[in-house]
Amino acid sequence: MGTKVMIPLCSDFGEKHGSICIFGTGDFGRSLGSKLMQNGYSVVFGSRHPGETSLLPRGAEVLSHAEAVQNCSIIIVAVQRDHYDFLKNLKEALEGKILVDVSNNLTINQYPDSNAEYLAQIVPRATVVKAFNTVSAWALQSGSLDASRQVFVCSNDSQAKQQIMDIIRAIGLTPQDKGSLGMAKEIEDYPLQLFPMWRLPMCTCAGLTVLVFLYCVIQDIIYNAEKNIDVSYLLMITIPNRIFPVVSLMLLALCYLPGAFAAIIQLYRGTKYSRFPNWLDRWMLCRKQLGLVALSYAFLHAIYTLVIPIRYSARHRTETFIINQVMLNKTRAFEKPLTWRSDTYLALGILGFFFYIVLGITSLPSVSNAVNWREFRFVQSKLGYLTLLLCTGHAMVFGWNRFLLLDRYRWYMPPVYTLSLVIPCVVLILKLVLIIPCIDTRITKIRQGWERSPSKKAETKLKTCSL
Ligand code: NAP
Repeated sequence: MGTKVMIPLCSDFGEKHGSICIFGTGDFGRSLGSKLMQNGYSVVFGSRHPGETSLLPRGAEVLSHAEAVQNCSIIIVAVQRDHYDFLKNLKEALEGKILVDVSNNLTINQYPDSNAEYLAQIVPRATVVKAFNTVSAWALQSGSLDASRQVFVCSNDSQAKQQIMDIIRAIGLTPQDKGSLGMAKEIEDYPLQLFPMWRLPMCTCAGLTVLVFLYCVIQDIIYNAEKNIDVSYLLMITIPNRIFPVVSLMLLALCYLPGAFAAIIQLYRGTKYSRFPNWLDRWMLCRKQLGLVALSYAFLHAIYTLVIPIRYSARHRTETFIINQVMLNKTRAFEKPLTWRSDTYLALGILGFFFYIVLGITSLPSVSNAVNWREFRFVQSKLGYLTLLLCTGHAMVFGWNRFLLLDRYRWYMPPVYTLSLVIPCVVLILKLVLIIPCIDTRITKIRQGWERSPSKKAETKLKTCSL
């Protein structure tokens, strides 16, 4: 980013580059200061300890707060909110200047108002801009800014906001205009959120994992223990290798179920211009994360499956079978239907896994940025359904007719693979219905902005409101 931005500031500190004042010589002030200096700005620090430059970037000047602001029109307040009181004594010196609030809180809703609005109250004649709070001092210093390149900016003064956005671009970051200062509270909450988009997928995955684990333990271990057969060793490989594919398939289906619900809602309402229920909105927003969690389980299933031939229990079973055959002088006939079944099951699994990986790769920002919107939709929707179809087929061929065999219903519980097929089958059936030409045409029309006749629309709205 070699562009130098000329800021219309007084320039005692530099003719060519703008001078920026930073209050506070702490971690953040120092890091931002050195980033600004690397990009051609002169920086003057306002501190309680003027003249102390030991930790500061070379060439930086440290003055008292009142002296530092004299020659700058932009002041970055890199001080915790609790210490803003010193600004009350600088009200006159700060009149007409731009104050950039970079502060964060320890918890969400720590204060009733945002820090930026509080700053604006303390210094009413200055223009407050909220910015930089989502960038860490460490990222500024180390240069590894990929995860925090976005800088959210808001202010009631669009000119001041523009000036700060120019500085942000000049130091290699990406400004995101979030509007007026009223948005500061939301911006201050961003760094406090812990994996917001991952919470629902992770909880769903954890919940399903626990349920399937308990189901398998009851069906395999406790059921056999009742008959004095100890198969507790299944806990290490067999049961996990049942949980991973079952949960992975369910999660993959859960990525496509909300899309089907959305289409049904749009068909029912006859418009795309009404909001989906909040739960559906939330669900749709975390589909990528759901898919990635599902992919990680599919990976684990593939790895666990690869180790099966080297397991002692598997080797023992094979060896015992061969020895028995030899002792009884028996030959096992080559069963073609069984070969077909086993090869089909494996082929569907391999292909499903391949498309699963393609889906995962295309959801990476670097890849999704390189494809256009239609290509992305093609991969995520068409290939996504193909993956779901292949994986569902893999599970069906694996189980084959076992759901018909009564001895598989231990304590009346169906085999776990049949449970894993419920959601995928529902999704695939819904999709089949939705692509029936007359329904598909109607959905396409609605998605292009067509609305059902106003009277019917009003009726539907009334019903929705009364709900
Ligand atoms: P810090 O290391 O504690 O530094 C804060 C600075 O504030 C001190 O070095 C001090 O500078 C000044 N200060 C302390 N008490 C003061 C008082 N009573 N009156 C006036 N000035 C006082 O904190 P920091 O990590 O740099 O964070 C500064 C601000 O940036 C905070 O609001 C924080 O939320 C925000 N922020 C930090 C990061 C980060 O990664 N650290 C990231 C985003 C935003 P002098 O000794 O020079 O006066």
